[in-house]
Amino acid sequence: MVLIEAGPRVLAGFPDDLSAYAQASLESLGVEVKLGQPVTECSAGGVVYGDNKLEARTIIWAAGVRASRAAEWLNAPADRAHRLEVLPDLTVPGHPDIFAIGDTVTIAGPDGRPVPGIAPAAKQQGRYAAATIKARLNGGTLPPFRYKHAGSLAQIGKRLAVIEFGRIKLRGTIAWWIWGIAHIYFLIGLRNRLSVAISWLWIHARDQRAARLITQGSSKVER
Ligand SMILES: Cc1cc2nc3c(=O)[nH]c(=O)nc-3n(C[C@H](O)[C@H](O)[C@H](O)COP(=O)(O)OP(=O)(O)OC[C@H]3O[C@@H](n4cnc5c(N)ncnc54)[C@H](O)[C@@H]3O)c2cc1C
Repeated sequence: MVLIEAGPRVLAGFPDDLSAYAQASLESLGVEVKLGQPVTECSAGGVVYGDNKLEARTIIWAAGVRASRAAEWLNAPADRAHRLEVLPDLTVPGHPDIFAIGDTVTIAGPDGRPVPGIAPAAKQQGRYAAATIKARLNGGTLPPFRYKHAGSLAQIGKRLAVIEFGRIKLRGTIAWWIWGIAHIYFLIGLRNRLSVAISWLWIHARDQRAARLITQGSSKVER
């Protein structure tokens, strides 16, 4: 299995050391990691990246998502992924009465990097837009939107995960368990939490394949 990543490291949203851990974990599972070269061609016979041609019968494309056509409809500025570039109050340039939020927009976070396209960011933007509308109805305004990053979690394989909560960085088995617990915690309703927890524990105990929980990985990838 070969992983081709255009950027200089895997899991670019994580600190360097967790990124290096993720790469080492993948390599320990038998994945060959190729960095720094984007795929430029993709066909039934394989892919081309940099000056290399890699023959492959199975290709999994996971190079990100493209935003909706909202920017196009509104004739608004957009980035490479077609995400609408909103103003600091999450309105569309030239349209103070139109708010755009979530995956379809891009805005810089406090560190100057784009706010990540994840659910907590979309929820924070939703709350901000609602609060701004309420403030405007009362004749007021709000300070610009400020994204608060609660942390990042990524699962790599069985008992392999990385977590970054500000200065707290975790890896390996503990991170993998926290990843699972966090995802169950954020489900809606006790019944869903219990049923997913029991189902995941069952899958984990029996080493079965499942959609969200990577329970394989004790053995190396077959080549
Ligand atoms: C495979 C995958 C895994 C992810 N895992 C995580 C994760 O673990 N943690 C995390 O925080 N984030 C995760 N994300 C990102 C997260 O899902 C998004 O950031 C979040 O859902 C964005 O919310 P949103 O409301 O902007 O868009 P969405 O949740 O995508 O909602 C947009 C809705 O609009 C509908 N829609 C689209 N076009 C139209 C149209 N023209 N007319 C009417 N309706 C339309 C869509 O059907 C959809 O229901 C994941 C995303 C993907 C794709």
